[in-house]
Amino acid sequence: ATPTSIMAGSGRSAEFGILFKGGEHLELTHRVTTVVLDKTGTVTNGEPTLTDVIPVGMDEKELLQIVGAAEKLSEHPLAEAIVAGIREKGMELTNPDEFEAIPGFGVKAVVGGKTVLVGTRKLMAQAKIEIKPALEMMEEMERNGKTAMLVAINNEYAGMVAVADTIKPTSKEAVQRLQDMGLEVIMMTGDNQRTAEAIAKQAGIKQVIAEVLPEGKADEVKKLQMQGKKVAMVGDGINDAPALAIADIGMAIGTGTDVAMEAADITLIRGDLNSIADAIFMSKKTIRNIK
Ligand code: ADP
Ligand code: MG
Repeated sequence: ATPTSIMAGSGRSAEFGILFKGGEHLELTHRVTTVVLDKTGTVTNGEPTLTDVIPVGMDEKELLQIVGAAEKLSEHPLAEAIVAGIREKGMELTNPDEFEAIPGFGVKAVVGGKTVLVGTRKLMAQAKIEIKPALEMMEEMERNGKTAMLVAINNEYAGMVAVADTIKPTSKEAVQRLQDMGLEVIMMTGDNQRTAEAIAKQAGIKQVIAEVLPEGKADEVKKLQMQGKKVAMVGDGINDAPALAIADIGMAIGTGTDVAMEAADITLIRGDLNSIADAIFMSKKTIRNIK
């Protein structure tokens, strides 16, 4: 590999908003066979909005007051969406008496002396809360690509809130380009299977790995590598950092967290997933010039 072609390739890529950390990454990127995309903030805009509030045995305001307080101290994008949605309705939020984030599952809080859980089916199952009456509506929302979260108050099912995120306007064409290059494209998320499939379908992605716990993303990448695949992982979150580090090529979205960028080999300054195909193209071109 001549230093001159590497330098030229790095410089040219930088003009496109693709920052290679080192020349070796520019040389290796063309070998990628499989592109794994994080869902939230990578395929989607990562700005979910509150779309549905389904109270059970109380009115909407009462449910939102409790859910808002429970989520107020959470830094999760879903919590931020819920809190913003409640504030938009002109409601004031109170503080929880106690708060605990349960990564990959939801939150547990004490609000006005009541124990509150907000999160996944598994969170409810662990607390032995009966959620059967909620499931049909929950599945319907998920089929529409929404993330529905169950609420329990004092160990009883008390309703549901749902948020929706939209795919980036360029995600579909970017995925198509990768597939046209003969690459396998997979979406990976902690969100449930049904929501994940609905979002993947909108982006033209055929393979989904869903309900991955925050610490499980790196293991999923390892499994693909053990099948002989050369994996590019693309993500934006703190959760994605271990997977970005272990992947053959880690690509961080420049609009994401610093932790992701530190763990990655390449930063894609534009949030646009077209940069993935551009990076692979630049790598191929550099290698050709070297040979
Ligand atoms: P993602 O990879 O989509 O960011 P996470 O692994 O962080 O997902 O979370 C998985 C699931 O756990 C979410 O889809 C949601 O159902 C639930 N969850 C996580 N955090 C919260 C929260 N603060 N409030 C309610 N539900 C949550
Ligand atoms: Mg993300």
